[in-house]
Amino acid sequence: MAAHFKVKVDAKRCKSCELCVAVCPKNIIVISEKKNEQGFRLAVCQDEDACTGCLACAQVCPDVAIEIVRKEQA
Ligand code: SF4
Ligand code: SF4
Repeated sequence: MAAHFKVKVDAKRCKSCELCVAVCPKNIIVISEKKNEQGFRLAVCQDEDACTGCLACAQVCPDVAIEIVRKEQA
């Protein structure tokens, strides 16, 4: 049973500060071209299969915009 993770970024909260980009040990978070209502480009995980669920990104985000959701797979 391997665990996989979904990296959810709350578009309303993200302010494009890039702290999550800097902290991710897997370097899988990038700032996308997609903007939220306030004009901030959203952080997005480009390779969820590589996410270890370490929570570093969620903990560093000053706007509590990131949620890591565990997905169980057989
Ligand atoms: S939980 Fe860890 S590995 Fe996954 S995206 Fe966040 S910082 Fe990167
Ligand atoms: S740390 Fe939070 S606010 Fe900053 S870019 Fe990442 S998700 Fe957005």
